[in-house]
Amino acid sequence: MPAAITPPAVPMAKSMALPHISSPDQKRKIICFSDFDGTIFMQDTGHILFDAHGCGSKRREILDEQIKTGERSFRDVSEEMWGSLKVPFDDGFEVMEQTLEIDRDFQSFHNWCLANDVPFNVISAGLKPILRKVLDTFLGEEASARIEIVANDAEIKDDGSEWKPIWRHDTELGHDKALSIAEARSEAELTCENGTVPLIVFIGDGVSDLPAAREADVLFARRGLRLEEYCIENQIKYYPFDSFADIQKRLEQIQKEDAEKTAGKGLPAIFNPRANLWRRVSSQQAVPRFAIMSPSKEEKMFLWPEAFSELKTPQFEVNEISASIVPPAQA
Ligand SMILES: [Mg+2]
Repeated sequence: MPAAITPPAVPMAKSMALPHISSPDQKRKIICFSDFDGTIFMQDTGHILFDAHGCGSKRREILDEQIKTGERSFRDVSEEMWGSLKVPFDDGFEVMEQTLEIDRDFQSFHNWCLANDVPFNVISAGLKPILRKVLDTFLGEEASARIEIVANDAEIKDDGSEWKPIWRHDTELGHDKALSIAEARSEAELTCENGTVPLIVFIGDGVSDLPAAREADVLFARRGLRLEEYCIENQIKYYPFDSFADIQKRLEQIQKEDAEKTAGKGLPAIFNPRANLWRRVSSQQAVPRFAIMSPSKEEKMFLWPEAFSELKTPQFEVNEISASIVPPAQA
């Protein structure tokens, strides 16, 4: 068992210092969104399949390079990769079951989410039927059913002669992760009682996670991988993690500090004004959050981006995102 601190709905030890203690239903809701490949699992489900039953690792590397150089879109290349598979689903799954390693602390983290009413959602550029089967296998169907998967769908012929992604969005990426998070946030806010604003958490490992990461209040990046590198290069605030135990510890701390500072009212102690702005522009439901936001330069930057140089953007984020808690170099 991890040395977990129970998140204080009513912070007993601090009650003397807090004249207005929130009732349990006023506790701020935390909502987690997580990438799948390289984040919950250490490998990439698609790569395992393509290497074993499709185009093979050499061709895959050439195709990956075409995405990186911009020669072809992610969606176009992905269609070629998935189209190269000639294997029935169950046979293809065997190699995944043998090769995939789940983050060593994911299961206990997910149990913590369930015990603390923290919804956990997967946001992935992969194919939903595969991800679901992987979760069913590694977590069991009951726990898996508690995880919502937001990903592309797929049509897979019974004899394995055709694997075809059904893209979630009509864009070059096929799945606009930022849009999915923003939609989920709007939905979540409608369900929060008394205008409570949820704290949105994103967990990822790669550059493709960046659009989604920018929509979150709190960002976790797997240590030593590309998302972390990008955050450092662009001075974007993030917490590094080696396993989901680090994430759990940090969220417990954030929840405790938020309860002490806000008692679950108004904006979270850590929040991302950029995410807020996106919501405000995109949704009529955003009024409560709008009312408690003070206007900022970020707002102008978002509405009239051409008036601001690109160089100013990262600098501004450093100053504005999560002003209250600075991610320490891992204690
Ligand atoms: Mg990933």
